Amino acid sequence: MLHAAEEIAQALGEDAVCYDHDVLEHHGHSDWSTSNSANRAVAVVYPKSTEDVSTIARICHRRNVPMVPFGAGSSVEGSFSQPLSGICIDFSYMDKIVAFHPDDMDVVVQPGLNWVDLNNHIASSGLFAPMDPSPTATVGGMVSTNCSGTNAFRYGTMKDWVLNLTVVLADGTVIKTRRRPRKTSAGYNLTSLFVGAEGTLGIITEATLKLAPIPQSTSVAVVPFPTIHSAAAAATALIRSGIQLAALEIMDEKQMEILNAHGSPTVRKRHWAEQPTLFLKFSGTAEAVQSDVSRVSAIIHDLTQGRAPFHFARTKQEEHDLWAARKESLFTMTSIRPAGFEMWSTDVAVPVSRLAEIIDWSKAECGKLGIFASVIGHVGDGNFHVAMMYDPRDKEQAAAVGRCVHEMMDKALEMEGTVSGEHAIGIGKKACLRDELGEETIGVMRSLKRAVDPKGVMNPGKVFD
Ligand SMILES: Cc1cc2nc3c(=O)[nH]c(=O)nc-3n(C[C@H](O)[C@H](O)[C@H](O)COP(=O)(O)OP(=O)(O)OC[C@H]3O[C@@H](n4cnc5c(N)ncnc54)[C@H](O)[C@@H]3O)c2cc1C
Repeated sequence: MLHAAEEIAQALGEDAVCYDHDVLEHHGHSDWSTSNSANRAVAVVYPKSTEDVSTIARICHRRNVPMVPFGAGSSVEGSFSQPLSGICIDFSYMDKIVAFHPDDMDVVVQPGLNWVDLNNHIASSGLFAPMDPSPTATVGGMVSTNCSGTNAFRYGTMKDWVLNLTVVLADGTVIKTRRRPRKTSAGYNLTSLFVGAEGTLGIITEATLKLAPIPQSTSVAVVPFPTIHSAAAAATALIRSGIQLAALEIMDEKQMEILNAHGSPTVRKRHWAEQPTLFLKFSGTAEAVQSDVSRVSAIIHDLTQGRAPFHFARTKQEEHDLWAARKESLFTMTSIRPAGFEMWSTDVAVPVSRLAEIIDWSKAECGKLGIFASVIGHVGDGNFHVAMMYDPRDKEQAAAVGRCVHEMMDKALEMEGTVSGEHAIGIGKKACLRDELGEETIGVMRSLKRAVDPKGVMNPGKVFD
């Protein structure tokens, strides 16, 4: 592995390779992640072009050295960890917009580009890339986890926004999955093969992304409910109403308590009802937003006999402040984590008709553990997270949390759901993926993996063994 790193330094320059302990640590471990591995890469390398990546791959392939791509390191299932060590490939210097085609509503970017920077850069064109995972995330990582976020209810997930990819295969071969039209039925859909592959099939060095028009008008409403069941049931009714909301999110009473006690000054401008709360975002023309707000308000009024107050933002500032509560919730929650404690966050998704039932069930099961546990999520997509804080030194507690998480995933599978709505599989959920899909389906994935990476050097130990 060290010989490979030295050879990469000879080919790309000494500056392109780093052995610094802190840098390796940062690239091999994440406090956000539920799963981490003990090993670290021997070096982090910094390519500047597709050709550089191809050179790195050729060297590692010849020497049978694992390659692990790294974007911003914000994924939460250990997808970028290095259980078999190897070379970590960081795309910090591949963060450019290669070509912007506003008339075609697409943009060609390098994988290290951060999505917030992209949207700031193109904002004046009236277009944006809609996926919104961690504000730090990069396009390469977002494509490779098939990420989503609060906007997925309206815009779908990352897979719906990728037109083509340039990919360096394990042996250094460079391919482009397709050209740039909005549609094609030419050949196998190789773009989708690499979306969500977590860097196990190849290294993305360029992506063409579709863009959406920035909505003319937006608004936000929050609605507290007496119980988590009534909030989830209202969410299901809103989804079925066909009203095209921009986002539909849920936070339980624990999250709301934390906002009041520990939220940022923006969030604490108001006192939040400490009840399960739906956060709704509206977007479209001004008239459409007004009509959607009235329709949603009427549905909620009918469902709750007027007992769930509907707070709707009257100014842009208020809209920003209300939504900040949802966007900052994860940061606020982790800020109160006691020293030495860890957070285990689940990510199940079920068909929407089963949503209220599984959220209810999950709350009851976590409640029995006697630890901090809280539900938050993208209920519009039937996807939610339960965040549990526990002390890993307390073996009994850690085991109980692990059991609870697995029971929750089993329950989701019983309901024809998934064990990973948006956080991918990484090292943490390999066994659960087998439960979800079965050996035969995993067998086909293995065959595909062998076809493009027969030596198994691309991000080994992830998705399946
Ligand atoms: C505060 C916070 C909030 C979050 N909210 C959401 C959310 O709402 N929705 C959501 O979906 N996720 C969310 N996430 C998870 C995370 O942001 C996403 O998984 C994101 O897509 C990861 O991007 P990244 O650049 O950090 O990738 P990394 O974590 O660096 O890598 C992720 C995977 O992609 C691979 N990879 C990276 N670059 C490449 C490349 N160029 N070629 C091939 N493979 C590559 C890596 O090897 C790894 O397997 C959140 C995380 C945090 C910390």
